[in-house]
Amino acid sequence: MNANKFLLTQIEMEASLILITNAEVYTPEAIGKNDVLIAGGKIIAVEPHLKSKMAMAKIVDVNGLKLMPGFIDAHVHIAGAGGEGGPASRTPEMQLSHMIEAGVTTVIGCLGTDGFTRSFESVLMKVKALRAEGVSAWMYAGAYQLPTPTLTGDVGRDISLIDEVIGVGEIALSDHRSSHPTVAELTKLAAHARVGGMLGDKAGIVNIHMGDAKNPFQLLYDVVASSELSLKQFFPTHCNRNSYIFEDAKKYGKLSTIDLTASSYPYFPDIEIKPSVAVRELLAAGVPIAHITMTSDAFGSLPHFDEHGNLVKLEMGLLTSLHSEFAAMIQQEGLPVSVALKTITENPAITLKLKHKGQIKPGFDADLLLLDDGFNLCSVMANGKWMMHESKLLVKGTYE
Ligand code: ZN
Repeated sequence: MNANKFLLTQIEMEASLILITNAEVYTPEAIGKNDVLIAGGKIIAVEPHLKSKMAMAKIVDVNGLKLMPGFIDAHVHIAGAGGEGGPASRTPEMQLSHMIEAGVTTVIGCLGTDGFTRSFESVLMKVKALRAEGVSAWMYAGAYQLPTPTLTGDVGRDISLIDEVIGVGEIALSDHRSSHPTVAELTKLAAHARVGGMLGDKAGIVNIHMGDAKNPFQLLYDVVASSELSLKQFFPTHCNRNSYIFEDAKKYGKLSTIDLTASSYPYFPDIEIKPSVAVRELLAAGVPIAHITMTSDAFGSLPHFDEHGNLVKLEMGLLTSLHSEFAAMIQQEGLPVSVALKTITENPAITLKLKHKGQIKPGFDADLLLLDDGFNLCSVMANGKWMMHESKLLVKGTYE
C-alpha cells in the first residue's frame, strides 16, 4: 500500500471523529462524567479521559452538560391525521424541525382515524423523506379500521418485506371510531403481524388505540386466552386518557408494556392523567419501569365528543410534549433522570426491536442530546450529525 495514501486516510478518518468531552452521561443509567467518541454515525467508545488518547478527533467540550440518548417517539402522525371535524380539520404533515426542536431523533409514523382518504403510501414516503433529511424513522402499516390499509394486501407481507414497516397500527379498540373488531379478527391480524415480524426480523407488534369505552383491555386478554399469542404482541397507547382506563392499565402494565400519551393532557386536564404523574403512579402500583413508555401522538387531532357523539372541541398534539413531560417527571414528580429517560429511549427501542437505538453504548447509533441543569435542550445529534448545537437549529426540512 502507498504509505502517503495510508497516512491521508488515517488523517481523514480521525478528522471525522467527534469526541464529546466532560459530559454527565445518562445511558439512560447515570454513569457520571465521561467522554463519548463518535465516528461514522455510531458511538465508538464511552470512557472517562478519552481526550488524552484521541488527539486527532474534533473535540467538543460540553462543560458538564447532561448527555442523553435522543428521544424515540413511537406514535406520531407524521403525514397528518384527524379530520373528525370535516376537511378543514385535517392536520398538516410534520416537518423535520418539529422533531429536532423536540429532541426526537427517532420517530414511528402511523395513519390514525383516517384510513379512508389518507394512505399507507403517504406515510411511507414521509418516512423515506425523514431518513433522507438525516433522522431515523419507521412506520406502522394500517389505520384505525379493519380490514386495515396495507401496501401488499396483508400486514404480514408489509412487515416482512418493507424495510420501513415494523408493525401494524394504530388499530382502534373501545372507541366509536373503531371498526369494533371481534376476538377472531384481532387474533388473525396479530398473528399475521407476528409472522411478518419473524420473517422480517422486526417487532411485528400491534399498536392499539385505546378509546374511551369501559374495560378496553378485555379484548386483548380474550385474544391471548383463545390463541397462542402473548400480550407482548400488543402495544396499547393512550392508557392515561381517563381514570378508569388508567386503573385498568395498572393491572395490565404488570403483565406487558403500556404506552402513555403526552400531547393531549394540556387540552383535557380534567379527564386525562398527566403523563408524568401517571409514570410515578404506575411505578407506585408495582408496574415495572421496563413496561412503561411515553409517546406524543403529535399531529394527531385531539377531538372531544359529548355524550351524543357530537364533536365539541378539536386540538392538535405537539412533539414537544414528550420533552416537557420528561422534565416534569424529574422536576415535579421527583423521579430519577434514568427512570424518566427510559420511558422515551431504551424502553420503546426494546419494545419495538429498534436495534442500536435508545442507549449510549459502543455500537449504538450516535443519536444524542445535550441538556442543561434545568433540562433545557441545548444540542441534538442524529446519526452522528449535529442538527441543533448550542441552541441553534442547524438543519431544516427541505421546504422549511
Ligand atoms: Zn390514537
